[in-house]
Amino acid sequence: MNQPTMEQIISLCKRRGFIFPGSEIYGGLAGTYDYGPLGVALKNNIKNLWWKQFVLDRTDMYGMDASILMNQNVWKASGHVGGFSDPLVECKNCKSRFRADQIDASKCPSCEKTETFGPARQFNMMFKTTVGALEDADSISYLRPETAQGMFVNFKNILDTFSPKLPFGMAQIGKAFRNEIAPRDFIFRVREFEQMEIEYFVDPRNEEVINQTFESLYEEQLRFIESIGISKEKLHKIEVPDGDRAHYSKRSVDTEFDFPFGQKELLGLAYRTDYDLNAHSKASGASLDYFDEETKERFTPHCIEPTFGVDRLVLAVLSDAYKTEGEGDDARVYLDFPPAIAPIKACVSPLVWDDNGNVGKRYRRQDEIGTPFCVVVDFDTLGEHPELLDTVTVRDRNTGKQDRVAIKDLEAYISERVK
Ligand SMILES: [Zn+2]
Repeated sequence: MNQPTMEQIISLCKRRGFIFPGSEIYGGLAGTYDYGPLGVALKNNIKNLWWKQFVLDRTDMYGMDASILMNQNVWKASGHVGGFSDPLVECKNCKSRFRADQIDASKCPSCEKTETFGPARQFNMMFKTTVGALEDADSISYLRPETAQGMFVNFKNILDTFSPKLPFGMAQIGKAFRNEIAPRDFIFRVREFEQMEIEYFVDPRNEEVINQTFESLYEEQLRFIESIGISKEKLHKIEVPDGDRAHYSKRSVDTEFDFPFGQKELLGLAYRTDYDLNAHSKASGASLDYFDEETKERFTPHCIEPTFGVDRLVLAVLSDAYKTEGEGDDARVYLDFPPAIAPIKACVSPLVWDDNGNVGKRYRRQDEIGTPFCVVVDFDTLGEHPELLDTVTVRDRNTGKQDRVAIKDLEAYISERVK
């Protein structure tokens, strides 16, 4: 299998302007990364395709963009203030801190002394902050650790303004923050990241419909990740067993991907039941019930949640698209992006030597950023052979094959292939 190393991916991302370490000139800030011009273009293309598939192309989905800062009671009700934590251990010798479940605690990975760890304690992963000029217990807020709660607390607003019939969903793309004890693996586990989440509400009275909806949302998740070029062979469906699931989930199916550093979670799908709406209804006093006009019954809908980590998708796409070919002077690296997500769709250049060397070097550079088409203007374009006047060559990134295309047909030629 053609699998690049993380070093190759990180190096290409920095060299070509996809992703830089955060705050780099100050020595960085662990667990943060900055997207450069090509990275943000790639990420926006992925987000736009997601929004199109899950919101624009459906009639049962309501888009949202909720605030990152929320009333602290949201996080008390959701269970995050009390329980959103990882087990932390500290080395008594060198003071290094680790996630207890990620190391062998009999020996410190940092100073290599043995038996220096005390018992693990729970470390809350939310970033705490204060809102307004007064700093007291009432001014506490948090940078949201997930986008989901912004949708649950707006559930009533959607009911009141759009009167949707079940089943329907709410969808949101936005930043989330987790104070990870050990950020790692480039943009895989970071402290600031972006999520694309859906809360899909169903009638709790019909278990068969709930199961069917779960399956169809799973299929939709797969359809999406295949549409951005992620290979089926590298995906693994994991039915999360009892005991390993989050406390709110009745069923969870994770989709794991073969990253260069191993098989890790890429997507999640969880049947959250009425856990969140009930919790917020109880804590806020607001009724978050749904009224069924047909049966005249009132009940709390159940929720199924497909969730996608944008940065993880970017990393999966990059590692899957990274291809090497040939040897010596002929060696090249290219990113085999589907044209729809490529940051740049086509590069236009002259055949002659210029500041960037010859056209071969220009091709290599475009290959490395995944540009699917290179258009070259040559002497034939100018009429050296009169029958070829006003035509250009279009080179395909993957095959290197060149087509001769009339300039008047070029837009259609490329549009057809980047859909
Ligand atoms: Zn130590």
